Amino acid sequence: MAELAFWNTKTRRKEIFRPIDRGNVRMYVCGPTVYDRAHIGNARPVVVFDTLCRLLRHVFGDGNVTYARNLTDVDDKINGRAAELRADGDPRPILEIVRSVTDETIGWYHADMAALGASLPTHEPRATDYIQEMIEMIKILIGRGHAYCAEGHVLFDVSSYADYGKLARQSLKDMRAGARVEVAPYKKDNLDFVLWKPSSPEIPGWESPWGRGRPGWHIECSAMSRNLLGPTFDIHAGGIDLAFPHHENEVAQSVCAHPDDGFANLWMHNGFLQVNGQKMAKSLGNFFTVKDLIDRNIDGGVIRLVLLGTHYRQPLDWTGSKLKEAREVLKRWRRVAINASEPHMPPDPGFISALADDLNTPQALAELHRLAAKKDAESLLSSASILGLLQDIPLEGKAEEIDLNTRKLIEELLHERTRQRELRNFARADEIRDAIRSVGVEVNDRPGGTGWDVVSQVDTRRLCDIADEFREQSA
Ligand code: AMP
Ligand code: ZN
Repeated sequence: MAELAFWNTKTRRKEIFRPIDRGNVRMYVCGPTVYDRAHIGNARPVVVFDTLCRLLRHVFGDGNVTYARNLTDVDDKINGRAAELRADGDPRPILEIVRSVTDETIGWYHADMAALGASLPTHEPRATDYIQEMIEMIKILIGRGHAYCAEGHVLFDVSSYADYGKLARQSLKDMRAGARVEVAPYKKDNLDFVLWKPSSPEIPGWESPWGRGRPGWHIECSAMSRNLLGPTFDIHAGGIDLAFPHHENEVAQSVCAHPDDGFANLWMHNGFLQVNGQKMAKSLGNFFTVKDLIDRNIDGGVIRLVLLGTHYRQPLDWTGSKLKEAREVLKRWRRVAINASEPHMPPDPGFISALADDLNTPQALAELHRLAAKKDAESLLSSASILGLLQDIPLEGKAEEIDLNTRKLIEELLHERTRQRELRNFARADEIRDAIRSVGVEVNDRPGGTGWDVVSQVDTRRLCDIADEFREQSA
């Protein structure tokens, strides 16, 4: 079995990975605050840690990995978004708007991340489903002298925890200077952070011993990870911006509430994504969402390949030329992999060693290039699947048992045909129909919509090429 080693932010060293229980490897990744579409930077941790999860499942067994990623559905940015909608004339009560903002955003998030080939985690807890657990943890912190109440707030007392700053390796002085800590008159120290805060009647709130209010952001992850993964678990991950203060504060809460438990052993953080060497910002006009790219007909696999082309700890520079190159590479690989006669061969050992070494995806991709060059279709396909790539390669299609991927390709082409008809590009729409026919699928326009029937042995290889061509033309 491959020995895995990962860089641990906590110890600043690469360490051999030894799970607490090989039968249940547990990891927690901080998920999104759900008030807006995920931007391309938000997609990086999702794709990176989905790949990590695939590697762990390969090494320890499919059923032996538990992956939790939370949804932060209580937050002032969400309340702000709801207030904006209301000011713009949404007549519904504010609490209803909040709920619909979070529900809708979660739906978008799922669709966009699925387009990038990311599997759903085992658990996807919503913060609002764990309010009682958070209240219990806050009570323990107060009871142990680590938190205090002030003006309806409950605050964590940073001076009560000697190791505060150890994860981020910062001194109290540097943290005060470097962090934009919220100054508030009721805090004993500006670094003290909110565990609970009061809610006015028009924003979401829950009854608590400290009055009607809502939790701070950090306590969510401490409470949910403990509930879903236990008092000590293997991996805690997220973007590097979360190391301080979010993860530092999670450690403080969890360790002070339960000093005998270990909380998380290994801390992993992805570097930031930039666009053409600049920080992504709406004001710079270089800000875009995953959906923006998908709407430009850029294949999710291509986006995923760009995201995995840089080592996860390095900053990633997003450029148009990387996209173009990734599209060519995937096309080449697809041509080779489509010849695989057996989809369930073991992945290539060199490829696995690359990933086993602190998830070295650039090296793993170099191994895929090697496999493609020697036309090793089976190893290429099975190895690529651990990166979540080439997942749409259809197996040889037979008229009677057409597989799901072939079905998806046909649906994709039909969807494109409908789009072209809506744009009144009828010649192009007919071209697509003829192409679908040429591989053995009849297209039937009926009053209720368009259907299709398999009329002869489906030529899946050609179908794949055709889909590629159309994707390229419409991109
Ligand atoms: P948020 O919804 O802002 O809490 O972010 C969700 C996740 O996306 C966190 O793990 C962040 O660290 C990560 N993230 C946000 N912006 C970027 C970026 N530009 N590059 C990489 N990761 C990011
Ligand atoms: Zn978190």
